[in-house]
Amino acid sequence: MFIVLLGAPGSGKGTVGEILTKNLKLAHISTGDLFRENLKNETELGKKEYMDKGELVPDEITIGMLQDRMKNPDVENGAILDGFPRTKAQAESLDKMLLLDGNKVDMALNIDVPFEEIVERIANRRSCKGCNAIYNIVFNPPKQEGVCDECGGELYQREDQKPEVVQNRLEVYKKSADELIEYYTNAGTILTVKAGDKAGKNSYQVAEEVEEYLKK
Ligand code: ADP
Ligand code: ZN
Repeated sequence: MFIVLLGAPGSGKGTVGEILTKNLKLAHISTGDLFRENLKNETELGKKEYMDKGELVPDEITIGMLQDRMKNPDVENGAILDGFPRTKAQAESLDKMLLLDGNKVDMALNIDVPFEEIVERIANRRSCKGCNAIYNIVFNPPKQEGVCDECGGELYQREDQKPEVVQNRLEVYKKSADELIEYYTNAGTILTVKAGDKAGKNSYQVAEEVEEYLKK
């Protein structure tokens, strides 16, 4: 099974992805994490100039990186794709890639959270330098300030979590979201879930709704 996660940065995409990964026993592929790993290891796929500004890395680089990751044996049963596709070209190349093995995108989950909630959420976010775990200093703080519960690593505010950059990331998201939503609406595979504090739906409830939907 292959599930694509749509939804703005800060919509809970990552958390929903992790829950579904565990429950459905699928691989979790986050292109953002892959790019950050490459940046940390100083490989040529670390695209700091784009990432720090919240701009999209060019399609050919991103698609090539995903193609490599999809060859990993853990993808055999399927995957949750978090942060890919971000453009129509990426969506088309994903379909082609999957079709080669007789697979398809089974569901595109559109997690719909109001932008004003998102801006506040991201401002409160801290990431672990060691293991990439994410905390919210208001709603999901670590036991000890500035220290990761999982690995003891140092927590920091990513360059792209700073308010100016968040605004830009949301603009970038808005531009591509419409065509992706249209793409998967036409494919008949989209599920839109209104989430966030106002909608009264957290990531666990979103994941539950997805699992219910998949059972039908
Ligand atoms: P966000 O939280 O904004 O969704 P991610 O952690 O998914 O950010 O990605 C971080 C950065 O990595 C993006 O701002 C972008 O520069 C790059 N990136 C990740 N996925 C893609 C993609 N599918 N296409 C182009 N660039 C990407
Ligand atoms: Zn950690």
